[in-house]
Amino acid sequence: MTEQVSKLILFPLTAEVNDRGHLLVGGSDTVELAAKFGTPLYLFDEISLRRKCAEFKTEFVQRYADTSILYACKAFINKALLLLIMEEGLGLDVVSGGEIGIARTVNFPADKISFAGNNKSAEELALALDYGVGRIIVDNFHELKMLAKIAEERGRRTDILLRISPGIDPHTHKYITTGNIDSKFGFPMANAQEAVTEAMSMPGLNLMGLHFHIGSQIAETEPYHQAMEYILKFAIEMKQQHGFELKELSVGGGFAIQYTLGSPPPPLSVYAESIVSNMAGQCRKLGLALPKLVIEPGRSLVGRAGVALYKVGAIKEIPGVRCYVSVDGGMADNIRPALYGAVLEAVVANKMREKEAGKVTIAGKFCESGDILIKDITLPQLSADDIIAVPGSGAYCIPEAMNYNASFKPAVVMVRDGKARLIRRRETLEDLTRCDVV
Ligand SMILES: *Cc1c(COP(=O)(O)O)cnc(C)c1O
Repeated sequence: MTEQVSKLILFPLTAEVNDRGHLLVGGSDTVELAAKFGTPLYLFDEISLRRKCAEFKTEFVQRYADTSILYACKAFINKALLLLIMEEGLGLDVVSGGEIGIARTVNFPADKISFAGNNKSAEELALALDYGVGRIIVDNFHELKMLAKIAEERGRRTDILLRISPGIDPHTHKYITTGNIDSKFGFPMANAQEAVTEAMSMPGLNLMGLHFHIGSQIAETEPYHQAMEYILKFAIEMKQQHGFELKELSVGGGFAIQYTLGSPPPPLSVYAESIVSNMAGQCRKLGLALPKLVIEPGRSLVGRAGVALYKVGAIKEIPGVRCYVSVDGGMADNIRPALYGAVLEAVVANKMREKEAGKVTIAGKFCESGDILIKDITLPQLSADDIIAVPGSGAYCIPEAMNYNASFKPAVVMVRDGKARLIRRRETLEDLTRCDVV
C-alpha cells in the first residue's frame, strides 16, 4: 500500500481509487469533476453527511433519548445542506441574523433553531424573536437587558439558556478555545449567579437552562467532564439558593475530526458515552433531575464529508532550500493554515497509485507569504495540471472564504452514486462588483 492510498481514511466514506489510479468520491472521478466544474472545487459526499447525522442520532439519542442535536451551521451554511439537515431531523445552531435569514429561505423550522453569539445586535435579536427561534443563548449582561426589553415590547416570553464560560482549557489551539476564563464568550463563573437571578426576574425571559461551548477540535473527553462538573455544581447551588430549575443543558460542539494520519481523535461513541454517563452520574450524585441534553456539532458533522480539489500550476525548486508547488487556490478558500496553523493532508488525485517522490510545500496563489496550504508534505512526482485533493475540507473553509486578489469563491458540488450536483456555483466577475456603486 502506498502512502497515498493509506490517506483514504481521512476522506469521505465513499472514497476509493479506480483502475486509472484516480481518486473517486461518491462514485465520481474527482479528476473528471475538476475538469468539468473547474478548480478550486469543493466536493461534499452526501452519504458521509447522512451517515454522520445518523451516527449522532444513534450514539447520543440511543444512550439518552432526551437529546437535541443542533448542527452548528457556521461550519458550512448552504441551502442544499440545510435541506439535508432538515430531512435528517436535526436542529440548527446559528450565530447571526444572516444565518437566521438563510435558514428562513428554506423554511427551516424556527423552533429547532438556537441563536448563540457574543455580540448580537438589537436588530438580530428582534429578527430572532419575530421568526420565533426556539432558544436564545444569552452571552452577557448587555444582551440580557436588551433581549428582555425587546421581548417585553412584543408581549413575548422567550426561552433562553445562559452561556457560561466554565474556565476550562480544552487543549486545542488558542484561537479556537472559547471556554477558558480569559474568553470573549459567555458569563464568567464569577458573574454567573447574578446572570441567573437577573434572568429569572425578567418577565420577558424564560430561563430554561445553561450552555457551554469550550472550543473546537477538542480531541479529549476530559474537558467536557470538567466543564460539566462546574456547571452542574453551579446548577444545584442556584436551585438551592434561588429555586432555579435546570431543564436543559447544552454542552456545545467541539468534537474533533481526523485531519492527518497521526493520532486519531476518539470516535463519536466515546464522546457520547462519556458525556451522557458523566451527566447522568453527576446529576444523580447532586440530586438534580436529568435535563434535556443539547449538543451542537459543526466541524464533526460536515468536516470529513468535504474535499477540496486544486490544480497544480508553477513548480519552483529552490536548490537546497525547498520546492514550492503552487495551486490555484489557497488562503482565500481555506484560511485555516494561515489563521491558526491548521495542518492539512493531501493526495494527488490523478496519481493515487504512484510512489512518493519527495517533499514539497503546497503554496496558494494569493499575495501573502503566509499563504501556504501545506508545508513539507511528501507526495508523488508532481507536474503542472495534476489535481491535489485535500481531505477534511468540509468545515470552516467555504464560510471563511474571501475575495482577496479579486478571486472567485469556489463552486461546491454534492456527489452521490456517481452523480454530481452543483450546490453553489463559482463566483463570477459580476459577483465581485455587485455591491460597488459608481
Ligand atoms: C462554533 C460553535 C459550535 C460548533 O463547534 P464545532 O467545533 O464546529 O463543533 C457549537 N456551538 C457554538 C455556540 C459555537 O459557537
